[in-house]
Amino acid sequence: MSWNIWALKKSPWVFHVNTGACNNCDIEIVNCLTPKFDVERFGIKLVGSPRHADALLVTGAVTAQARPRLEEVYRQTPKPCVVFAIGACACDRGIFHNSYHVVGPVDKIIKAIDPDAIIAYVPGCPPKPEAIISGVVKALAVL
Ligand code: SF4
Repeated sequence: MSWNIWALKKSPWVFHVNTGACNNCDIEIVNCLTPKFDVERFGIKLVGSPRHADALLVTGAVTAQARPRLEEVYRQTPKPCVVFAIGACACDRGIFHNSYHVVGPVDKIIKAIDPDAIIAYVPGCPPKPEAIISGVVKALAVL
């Protein structure tokens, strides 16, 4: 196992990207960081730059406006990284499925620029903090 995969599994630093979410999924991600759920005890740390991140937590169905920002953030993230699609919108556009301004979902946009990208899905509208933590832990366990 290479050192960067080892670091990703043991202490993933995450960067949060909102690509047009209604903010409920974002609130649940923030909830994971609060003392009640305290994901830092698992080594999961929120960072302020994709250049420092091992994983991306992406919410939202990806609007046309957000697409170039998501692509740029992904390019800036060191590889290998895991992209977590958090919530029904990020997984498959959810309630915004037929919206004129939506170009997602997340996997379609990321795979278009990197076919080897690692994508993990955490469904729910919004997913509970327990589901987000469980999804992150399970996905990292199979790397
Ligand atoms: S999955 Fe639900 S809670 Fe999350 S951004 Fe979409 S509509 Fe909002």
